[in-house]
Amino acid sequence: MTKPVRHILGLSGGKDSTALAVFMRQQHPELEIEYFFCDTHKELPETEEYLDRIEARLGIRIHRLEAERGFDHWLDVYGGALPSPKMRWCTKQMKIIPLEKYIGDDEAISYIGIRADENRDGYISKKTNITPVFPFKEHGLVKADIYRLLEESGIGMPDYYRWRSRSGCFFCFFQRKYEWVMLAEEHPNLFAQAIEYEQNHADGRTYTWTEGETLLELLERKDQIIFEHERAMLRKQEELFDLPLSEILAEALDEVDDTVPCFACHL
Ligand code: SF4
Repeated sequence: MTKPVRHILGLSGGKDSTALAVFMRQQHPELEIEYFFCDTHKELPETEEYLDRIEARLGIRIHRLEAERGFDHWLDVYGGALPSPKMRWCTKQMKIIPLEKYIGDDEAISYIGIRADENRDGYISKKTNITPVFPFKEHGLVKADIYRLLEESGIGMPDYYRWRSRSGCFFCFFQRKYEWVMLAEEHPNLFAQAIEYEQNHADGRTYTWTEGETLLELLERKDQIIFEHERAMLRKQEELFDLPLSEILAEALDEVDDTVPCFACHL
């Protein structure tokens, strides 16, 4: 007997994938969707809380997928080299491989939360048994619809959106300078751990999470970074006065540094 096709939806702890879970529950309550989250065990506490909120509000269970060996093991395997935008071993080892293992050779439809107003594809598996589907694109849903879905469902936005615009590991190298400063304010213990990863190389090599400076050097420039961020926020508030504050924050962060985030981690 052939196995039924599986329906999977990956939650990143960000707004778009969450809104997609809301949308699919509304539009297709008949589908048995498997919701999953690739847990690196290096997440922000706000992300954990948000996933619990999503489960409670939608009455779903989110499968936490994890790599057989954690981040620190892989850091050893890669000779202590911190992952970076050019060497993104963390995504491969901690997100993509666990997901592909979870699906195995089963035929699966993967629902992806790329919006109609975005020009990107998100993470598309190279495995031919996984078929990507883009419901927001198909139905023409744009950013304003995402906010509406989250608002109406009672889930709202994750709490980290006050100071950070992307989901992912607390030390994610896609973070902008201001987000690092705020990590130090909001979670000094996690910031200290991120510093340890930079310094903890027995052979004396130095790696940095953010280009061109260590986190301690970055923190010394804290006042300048906050000043530049506040200037960008003011400009964006004048331009985009009718958007939610979290969106203005994202635009202000992009103005200073618009590095394209990781599509497997930040939807
Ligand atoms: S969130 Fe950032 S650090 Fe974590 S796995 Fe994704 S790219 Fe790597």
